Amino acid sequence: KVVNDTLGHPVGDGLLVQVARRLLDAAGSSATVFRLGGDELVAVLNGAGEVEALETGRNIIESIGAPYDVDGHTITIGCSIGASLTGDGIGASEALQRADLGLYRAKNLGRNRIQFYEDGMMEQALERRQMESDLAQALKCEEFELDYQPIFRLSDRSILGFEALIRWHHPVRGLISPADFIPLSEENGMIIQIGEWVINEACRQLSEWSTDIHIAINVSPLQMRLPSIVEVVRKALERHGLAATRLTLELTETALVRDGAHLARNLIALRGMGVKIAMDDFGTGYSSFTHLRDFELDQIKIDRSFINVSQTDHKAWAVAQAVTNMARELSVGAVGEGVETSEQITRLMQLGCDVAQGFHLGRPVNGEKASRLLAD
Ligand code: C2E
Ligand code: CA
Ligand code: CA
Ligand code: CA
Repeated sequence: KVVNDTLGHPVGDGLLVQVARRLLDAAGSSATVFRLGGDELVAVLNGAGEVEALETGRNIIESIGAPYDVDGHTITIGCSIGASLTGDGIGASEALQRADLGLYRAKNLGRNRIQFYEDGMMEQALERRQMESDLAQALKCEEFELDYQPIFRLSDRSILGFEALIRWHHPVRGLISPADFIPLSEENGMIIQIGEWVINEACRQLSEWSTDIHIAINVSPLQMRLPSIVEVVRKALERHGLAATRLTLELTETALVRDGAHLARNLIALRGMGVKIAMDDFGTGYSSFTHLRDFELDQIKIDRSFINVSQTDHKAWAVAQAVTNMARELSVGAVGEGVETSEQITRLMQLGCDVAQGFHLGRPVNGEKASRLLAD
């Protein structure tokens, strides 16, 4: 029951030792605890079955989650657990590998939980690795493309601009939706390069359109926190001779939650240049309204879960109404997303929301078709 890392070095003093002690206590007297490296610890429970391990795991999470005292500061940390059983031809090293796959899932499901290895996780991990190497190729081989969804002024049905949406034409698997590769590229950091490509490509396309047309670009939280984002945007605008005011960057709430300080600096610099900032999927996060107070935003995009609803969904419409009213109070633009019927357009206009996008108004199309929409 000596706490040391896999190389046999004792773990230095500090938080990890405190964590390891709690782990030892919660894991029980027959357990062995060691450090795998970094902030990962392993507890080997002797003779425990799945039920017992689950119970122990929950105790461990609770125990490790209690506040720590570090140099007079009270801090709390979270912990995720992956678990697997040995036996049935599964030795220690394979069990560890399996537990790691469980850990990956536990983190993805929202941390502070325990996840047992399940059949199929290994295959999924292999597929993920394949996708990662394919993603690395995709940029080089120009497999990405941007589609553009028109954003309309409802009162006269004119096109105010477009939202750029990335598409991946995989050489074997065909078209892959951003929902299927953006999260992975955020995990492994590749989103930074992909995001740069998106900004440049969208600006190139925008430079072909008349100067009253705007473009909205989705920016990942990771990208938005990098100090370099300001320069990337500035250079793209410069390269294509564009006024910054024609560009809107769309952020989701997760971007605002994590590491607010870095982000705030970038937002100030970008807005100083004239770039507009929109909050995407408004109303779906935990604290959408708090962010309206804490950050200077130019626009909110009302999530389609409040718009693409039946006429009798009074609650959804009441939220949409409240959001539209508040946007007006704050002099922030409101865009309705996901309009799929003409009734929804009528309702939006009744709410006083005059800008919208959605399949009923126009689906995302490639650059050429978008240009034709403008020419009509
Ligand atoms: P989003 O930013 O909320 O984009 C709107 C999504 O809703 C798009 O899906 C669009 O095709 C879809 N949509 C538009 N109108 C309607 C409608 O009337 N009904 C329904 N059901 N859906 C509608 P898409 O293109 O699959 O993109 C999914 C998400 O992927 C985007 O959600 C955005 O979060 C992300 N994404 C797309 N392109 C990029 C990108 O270049 N960079 C980053 N970081 N994320 C991107
Ligand atoms: Ca970690
Ligand atoms: Ca968006
Ligand atoms: Ca959205």
